Order: sequence, then structure tokens, then C-alpha cells
Amino acid sequence: MDLQKLEQFLKDNNQPKFRLEQIKKAVYQDGISAFSEITTLSKDLREALEKEMKVLSFEVKKVLPSNDGNSAESLLELSDGKLIESVLISPKPGLWSVCVSCQAGCPVGCRFCATGKMGFKRNLTAEEIADQVLFWRQYLQKNLKFKISNLKLTNVVYMGMGEPFLNWEQVSESIKILTDKKLFGFGSRSLSVSTAGIAEGIEKMAKEFPQVNLAVSLHFADDEKRGQYMPINKKDNLESLKKALQKYFEITKRKVFLEYIMLDKINDSAEDAKKLADYIYSIGKLQLLHVNLIRFNATPETSIENLKPSSKNQTQFFKKELENRHISITIRKSLGEEVQGACGQLATH
Ligand code: SAH
Ligand code: SF4
Repeated sequence: MDLQKLEQFLKDNNQPKFRLEQIKKAVYQDGISAFSEITTLSKDLREALEKEMKVLSFEVKKVLPSNDGNSAESLLELSDGKLIESVLISPKPGLWSVCVSCQAGCPVGCRFCATGKMGFKRNLTAEEIADQVLFWRQYLQKNLKFKISNLKLTNVVYMGMGEPFLNWEQVSESIKILTDKKLFGFGSRSLSVSTAGIAEGIEKMAKEFPQVNLAVSLHFADDEKRGQYMPINKKDNLESLKKALQKYFEITKRKVFLEYIMLDKINDSAEDAKKLADYIYSIGKLQLLHVNLIRFNATPETSIENLKPSSKNQTQFFKKELENRHISITIRKSLGEEVQGACGQLATH
């Protein structure tokens, strides 16, 4: 919702100051979908608001709930016609996370990623990012009324389309909106930002939001291979990433998640496991690094790359190799997390 516009509108209409707070509460905390539902306002004001303002900055084109009821994907049309996706995931019964997009498309172009294959359309505004959470809150609110009770939207992960550190101004603004007690009121520790590994961004985030969780999409512990699949590695290689992580730990003393997609015969051998362990040892702070092994999701967009997910056996083997070297590691396997992995396959045409 455009808060500046709302404030101006209320001023122009000679409304008392508390109106703004009243509307903010109804929209951000009670999850109303339309101004007409705010029964504490006069009918005239509700109608005027409906005419003048929109609660959401985009049109909802499609919502696809999964069969098991544990996730839903939405297709959203921005005011200039560009399309983005946003995902709702339930990691545990009754708990929900939103996976937000921060760009339409992505300029980084990782070869295994469907979003990367669609190219870059534009940066999202802080409002467009935060409104994705607002939309899912409304969606849950509607379900709450009719069907399920005790639903909680507890986490927001920046793991949808786009690279957060290439749109940091708007992403950081959206974090402020999400953690504002008078708006969404999320705790910083309930938010997670995932990056393909932009060193400067990691340092900025450590300083500005030391309590927000950080995930780094590492995927390869070898510069040559990483550069082949993730062009960003040519700008920020493993050494520069290592320095950024060391600074991050100095400032925040918080755990970082290293994401590692398991690609058959590409990055899943015993030698790759050793390289990953050596890299983690070279960073230091073993107890503050946790590896998440992710299953590669093949999509039509990435089919020309001929990539395959590693087998279950190979994934278990890889995990053991790291455990033997005392590295904390999990295979993402619960449904919610799998759909979270599916965040990496978002593409709109
Ligand atoms: N641009 C950021 C945020 C996107 S998060 C980043 O890259 O971290 C999306 C996550 O899904 C990233 O870890 C990404 O590497 C991963 N991913 C991309 N394509 C994938 C695929 N086809 N299968 C599984 N994970 C994928
Ligand atoms: Fe962009 Fe992340 Fe996909 Fe790479 S993995 S293309 S950085 S969205």
C-alpha cells in the first residue's frame, strides 16, 4: 500500500491524525482486503478511499494452491504489466512463510536458474516487495475465516525472483516496512535474505540489519566451476566471498547458511566435498556455517543446460563426506523446504 499517498489523502480530506493509524492497523495487522471492510470508518470515507486508493500495488492474476495444502504460488501483475511470482509455504502445520521476489527477472544469469534464464526486467519497489506479504496475509485471513484456524504467517524469505543485493535500496526499505511495529511487526530474526554472493552487499547487510538471517548460494567451492555456472563469481570470487563472510561474522556473530545445489557429476564428487570442507575451514568459524544441500529442480527454461539432480545415494554420500569433517549439514527434504527450493525455478513469460 502506498502510505505516502494515504497520508496525503487523509490530510486533503481533513481527517484527524488517528485515522492513519486506524487504517494501518486494519491493513497490516488485521489483514483486510478492501477499504470497504474497515467498519470503524464512516461509509463516506470508505467509499472515497475505495475510489482513490488501492490496498495492493499489483493485480493478482493467479493463485495456485498445491494439492496437499502446504504451499501456494501466485502470479502477480505489476502496474506496468511486468509479471512476478510470490510463494507461500508451510514449513510446519499452522506456520507459514512467504518467499518474496525483489526483481522481475534477474540480471545475474546463473545457468541452473529459471529466473536467470528469463533475463532482467526491472527492480521492484519496497512497496511492491512488502505488498507480496500483505497479499498472502489477506489470503490466509480469508482461509482463516472460512476453514482453518490458528494460522500464523511467521517468516519472510527473500528467495523469490531476483538478487536482493542488486536492488538493496528498495530491499532494505522493504525490511524496514516488514519490521515496523506499526506495520507488519516482524522480528528481524524472522526474515532471511539469500544472495548469489555479492561481497559488498553482505557487508552492508551486516551493518544495517545484523539480526536478519543470511543465506549464501555457494553451490560450488571451486572458482573455475563456479564461474562457469554463476557469472557473478567473476566479479566476486570465493576469496572475496570468504573475506565478506569473515567481516559478517565479526559484526554479527550469527550463523550463515550456505546453499549447495546437488548437480549430478558436476559438483557432487568426493573431491567436491573435500573442496567444500576446505573452503569452510579456510573461512574459520566452523560453528557459524551450516550447509543446506538442495535438490536441483529441472525446469523447461534450464533444459538446454542438460543438468540433472544428483541421486539420493550420491547426496547421502556427499553429506557423509562433510559430516566426517565435522561440518554441520542438512539435506532439505521437508515439503515446505522443497517448495522453498522451488523458489529458484520461478519464471514468468
Ligand atoms: N538471487 C538470490 C535469491 C534467489 S533464492 C540467490 O541466488 O540466492 C533462490 C535459491 O534457489 C538460490 O539458492 C538459488 O541458487 C536456488 N536455485 C536456483 N535455481 C534452482 C534450481 N533449478 N533448483 C534448485 N534450486 C535453485
Ligand atoms: Fe538470480 Fe539467484 Fe537465479 Fe542466480 S540463482 S539467476 S542470482 S535469482
